[in-house]
Amino acid sequence: MYGPKDHGWIEVVVGPMYSGKSEELIRRTKRAKIARQKVQVFKPEIDNRFSKNDVVSHSGDKTCAIAVKSSKELFESVHKDTDVIGVDEVQFFDEGIVEVIIKLADSNKRVICAGLDMDFKGEPFGPISKILAVAEFVDKIGAICMVCGNPATRTQRLINGRPARYSDPIVLIGATESYEARCRKCHIIPREEE
Ligand code: ADP
Ligand code: ZN
Repeated sequence: MYGPKDHGWIEVVVGPMYSGKSEELIRRTKRAKIARQKVQVFKPEIDNRFSKNDVVSHSGDKTCAIAVKSSKELFESVHKDTDVIGVDEVQFFDEGIVEVIIKLADSNKRVICAGLDMDFKGEPFGPISKILAVAEFVDKIGAICMVCGNPATRTQRLINGRPARYSDPIVLIGATESYEARCRKCHIIPREEE
């Protein structure tokens, strides 16, 4: 899979936090650049985790990225001669991202999307289900469970060190939040009554 010739396609890399999605996106785009393909990497503007103009993995690898506010802005920022488009944190984009990546693949571009398949509740994250459905190639990768060492497929949200409840708001002011990769058994989501 080096680059498109007479048609494009969609690749998706999904998994929980720390599974290496950004590492994999960086690896694939780096190889394309070595093969003299024109590459553009995008990310949603909300993800300022480490850097505004880079995709940075938890292990420190990085590549240049363009932060965009919407799927529309992403589409408008793609150059005509771009061969390969990377999209990190694709789950944070609006629903329009599905049509945008389809249009890009239809116009002979290789589109590589990386993102979370599930939110902290274990439910499909934003537009990801549709993206998985329309992709030609899907890789679901795992991390290592921080509790038991089994393959981790989920992201545990912790608020002040305790598992977040199903009904906890996405933004909690004044609380210390953290995330851990965990397996199905060790992933805990207390309901109201617990
Ligand atoms: P993602 O984009 O999926 O969040 P990254 O590519 O940013 O993942 O980071 C992957 C790196 O995270 C691994 O190479 C490793 O260095 C680190 N890491 C931290 N916690 C874990 C874990 N529980 N299991 C595996 N890797 C982990
Ligand atoms: Zn476990």
